[in-house]
Amino acid sequence: MAQTSDPRIAVDRLHAFVAATFEAAGCAADEAEAVATFLVDANLAGHDSHGVGRVPRYLDWIAEGGVKPGQHVTVVTDSGSMSVLDGHFGFGATIGREAVMHGIEKAKAGGVAIVALRSSGHLGRIGQWAELALKHGIVSLHIVNAGRSSIVAPFGGVDKRLSTAPIAFGFPVPNEPPVVLDFATSAVAEGKVMVASNGGKPLPAGALIDADGKLSTDPAVLYGPLEPGGVRDHSHGTGAIRAMGEHKGSGLALMCELLGGALTGSGCAGPATDRPFANGMVSIYFSPEAFGSADALAKETRDYIDYFRSSRPAVPGKPVLVPGEPERIASADRTANGVPLTRETWLGMIAAAERFGLAKDDPRMLPQPPAA
Ligand code: NAD
Repeated sequence: MAQTSDPRIAVDRLHAFVAATFEAAGCAADEAEAVATFLVDANLAGHDSHGVGRVPRYLDWIAEGGVKPGQHVTVVTDSGSMSVLDGHFGFGATIGREAVMHGIEKAKAGGVAIVALRSSGHLGRIGQWAELALKHGIVSLHIVNAGRSSIVAPFGGVDKRLSTAPIAFGFPVPNEPPVVLDFATSAVAEGKVMVASNGGKPLPAGALIDADGKLSTDPAVLYGPLEPGGVRDHSHGTGAIRAMGEHKGSGLALMCELLGGALTGSGCAGPATDRPFANGMVSIYFSPEAFGSADALAKETRDYIDYFRSSRPAVPGKPVLVPGEPERIASADRTANGVPLTRETWLGMIAAAERFGLAKDDPRMLPQPPAA
């Protein structure tokens, strides 16, 4: 996450720049808009690791054919409450939305739906898909892996064998925003290592493990020697990110690989070989109405969330938060005051936009960042 002291840029300005950049790179206007909304949304939520700092990497993926503009999901199988969808390596911004809308419609019609999505481009901040379902009154759970992206060492191991395999849930709460729990099963998401490698927030102790099994916070363990503004490629490093929560987190990540990668047909984490990066996602959608009385559910949820929050703060003045609150706090600040960007991220985006054809004098081009 960028620091609050980093220079900020207004949300509209940032959005227009990202959309213009993807249009210059060959995306249709509506797809470029969707990608811009998707990336800026992650910054608004405070997850800079999944925000506009990924513009250079996404552009490289288009150039290499790893993500294909202009794709739509197709139905591989549809057996009533269960579907398998193929994302054809299209942008996660559009493929994710189509797949989630498919699940929402099914859950509205039949009470419950299970949707397996294979071969999607990067699905970004997975919590946004739980939020989309909640906007339609649907509770959801999303289990995700990243095929080909072997970057996390399992508990007890040194070598990379797992992806950062995120998981997200969304649940409505009466008279306040919903609970949205959304995290990588690695000690930190890879994007956080990328942010740290670009001068952003340092990594927490023990986030990484080097090739000799020593714990580390140095992003060079993952990426190899760090050139300022250079490409961050985890195949260049000799170490790994650690799984979160010791054996329990490692086990959860393994289940994400099996469900998100094997069951969907998207493919599990593994060495970079013939297949491009792809997110696989199994999602379960529930219509709460199908489970019984809406009034009883609302009362139990309301009472329980109040009880949960009433736990005495361990640090005085820092009350217990419900998952989803940190993202809403960040969003309120950033919508009002702009999105903070590290200087390296800002310069990297300008360089990438120029490389992919956005003219220096285009009114939507980002200005140079303020002097350090
Ligand atoms: P994180 O460690 O910041 O945890 C975020 C979750 O914890 C959120 O639900 C948040 O509301 C909750 N939370 C944070 N602080 C809290 C507090 N004080 N009290 C209560 N709840 C709190 O997240 P992460 O593991 O770094 O993941 C960041 C993002 O990366 C996620 O959006 C995830 O989906 C995404 N990701 C995506 C992929 C992919 O392949 N698409 C892979 C890995 C991660």
